[in-house]
Parts: sequence; structure tokens; C-alpha cells
Amino acid sequence: MTIGILGGGQLGYMLALAGYPLDLHFRFLDPSPQAPVGRIAPRVTAEYTDFEALDKFAHGLALVTYEFENVPVEAARHLAQKLPVYPPPQALEAAQDRLSEKTFFQKLGIPTTDFVAVNSAGELDAATRKLGLPSVLKTRRLGYDGKGQWVLRTRDDVATLQNDLPATPLILEKLVSFQRELSILAVRGRTGETAFYSLVENHHRGGILRLSLAPAPRLSEALQREAEDAARCILETLDYVGVLAVELFECEGHLLANEIAPRVHNSGHWSIEGAVASQFENHLRAVSGLPLGETRALGHSAMLNLIGEVPDPAELLAVPDAHLHLYGKSPRPGRKVGHVTVRADSVGQLAARLKRLPAFFQRDEFCLSSEAVSASN
Ligand code: AMP
Repeated sequence: MTIGILGGGQLGYMLALAGYPLDLHFRFLDPSPQAPVGRIAPRVTAEYTDFEALDKFAHGLALVTYEFENVPVEAARHLAQKLPVYPPPQALEAAQDRLSEKTFFQKLGIPTTDFVAVNSAGELDAATRKLGLPSVLKTRRLGYDGKGQWVLRTRDDVATLQNDLPATPLILEKLVSFQRELSILAVRGRTGETAFYSLVENHHRGGILRLSLAPAPRLSEALQREAEDAARCILETLDYVGVLAVELFECEGHLLANEIAPRVHNSGHWSIEGAVASQFENHLRAVSGLPLGETRALGHSAMLNLIGEVPDPAELLAVPDAHLHLYGKSPRPGRKVGHVTVRADSVGQLAARLKRLPAFFQRDEFCLSSEAVSASN
């Protein structure tokens, strides 16, 4: 069976690696001739909106999935006229616009931060008065890793931004004072079967994910259930097939949904070594109609992203149960070029192994500082 994947970055690369043992074959489509999957699978270089190229790409495929949530919805809909596309295009549509995403949460009764649409300087003023400060203004579309976001703390901040407002649809959200950021990876198969990974605790620097601890430290059954209930409701409403990530804020023991990603997700990379079946394997099992694999965590894992530079592999791999994944991308500041997962049988052992990581990882941006490591104690 050959599966078509829209997007040829590291997520596609890791999907293919998980699919080869199942005798799945892959063909990728990505606008960039440098897409990392090029080194392991056939890749078509074309724009997502080139329908002629999409038709050629789809020829002979069993189904299409995607690893990039900003694939234009019309491309997914076009392909869906010819062959199964999972997750369904309506999931892409719900996730691509922060306003429809938050409205969708509200409709499902899933708590989220207060928000208001903003389309002009006048509306920004009214919105900040309605929600109060501090608030965060975001572009409704195409923001990622903290790009396209402005935190507003004072009326002066509002006035400055009013003079320089981006000419694009925006959303103002109340700034949540959360205790921590969490995410849940969920998966739904073609027959409606669902499975959930443990909640993961995520640490960011400069808007980019740096460290995920899985399962999240001090995780109560009630919090896990709250996350699963929200994720299940989203999966079922969208008639979803595949892996879905829900990013959450924990506030006073409860969860607020921030956003969804209709694809495998960076905060699920730990599952390659840290769970019975990884998010990548489970996404492929789901879309190809196979039974889902077990999502149970195998002990405790920490996943560290490598941004813009790569450590000495020999030093890193000297740490027991440390695993290095390099994506074959040329290093550039701010670019995710790989990740490392350290696994252990207990939280104490994990903390000890994280302390043994080379000096490269002991810098502030890896978030292995006291709070993160002590959080795993
Ligand atoms: P996002 O692109 O929505 O995932 O936002 C990137 C990061 O900004 C999140 O991981 C949070 O750390 C922070 N953030 C986003 N929205 C809010 C909010 N409403 N309140 C507090 N922090 C936020």
C-alpha cells in the first residue's frame, strides 16, 4: 500500500520510518526541493494549490494524509474527491483559523481562554477594554512557534500596536496565567476506536518547544480524564481519523484548550522510544484501517528539541537510554534540526540521566533547569 503525505518535513520523515516495518510505502508532496523526506522516499516538488500536480501525485495511492496543518483546505478537498483523505479536510479547516478553532471549542463546551475577533485598530481598542489587560493579539492564520503574536500589558502597548496593526484578520485572547502547558495526543481509527497517550508537560523558550516530559509530572487521573474527554469530543465531532494533538493550559487544577494540531506533533516524539506504539505508528495504523497500538508509556521520558545546532553524538549517546534523531536539515538559527529522547524506568532515574547529559544540554534554553528536572522528581 502506498500512502501519499502532504508535507515533507521531519514529521513526514518519522511517519515513513514508522511505516516501513508495516510494509507501507510513501510518496510525498512538498513545495520545497530541500524537504528532508527526499533522502528516504520519492518526493514530488509542487505547490499544494497545483491541482494538476496533485492529480499526478494521487495516481496509484491508497489514501492521502498530511504532516503539515497549513495545507490549503481546497487541496485536501480536491484530493478527497478521488481517494480517502485522513484526517478529514474539516479538521484542517477547524485548526487553521484560531477564531474558528476557539469558537469550535466553545460550541463543544471545552473551556478555552476568552477571545474576541479583531479586524481594525478601533476593534483592538474595544477588544482590550472588553477582555482587559494583559492580553495577547495573534494572527488568526499561519502563526507558529510564537510568530505573529503580540503581548499587550499596558494601554501604551495597545496604542503602539494600533499604529502598526498587521493588515490581516486577528484574534485577541486574554493572557492566561497558567501553572503549566500540557498536551494530549489522541488517535482515532477508521472504525471509531480511540486511544490516548498520557498528558505531556511542555516547556518553551522564545515560543519554541524545547522540552517535553512524558507522562507529565504529578499527573492526576482526574486531569488525564479531563483531557481525554475534551480530545474524544473533538475527534468524534470531526469524524476524525489519525493522530490529533490538543495543546492545553493547566490553570488551578483544570484545563483550558489553546489549540489543536490535526497531525502528529512535536510533543509526541517521546512516544517513539517511550510508548508501546509511537504516535507515528498509530497514525499510520489509524489511516490505513489497522487496529490501534497500545499508547501506554514505558516508564518516563524527556524529549529535548535541537534548535539550530547538533551536539556531539558520541557524548550524548553515552547516556543510558538516550536516543538521537537527526532530520537531515542544514543547521540554521531557530530551525528544528533534530531531537533527543531520554527514557528511564522511574522519575528519579530520569532526573539522574538528564543531569548526565553533556554540557551542551545544560544551557538555559533546554529548560533542564531546576524546575523542569525537579518537576520530574
Ligand atoms: P500558540 O501559537 O497559540 O501555541 O502560542 C504559543 C505560546 O504562547 C503558547 O505555547 C503559550 O506559551 C503562549 N500563549 C499563547 N496564547 C496564550 C494565552 N492566551 N495566554 C497565555 N499564554 C499564551
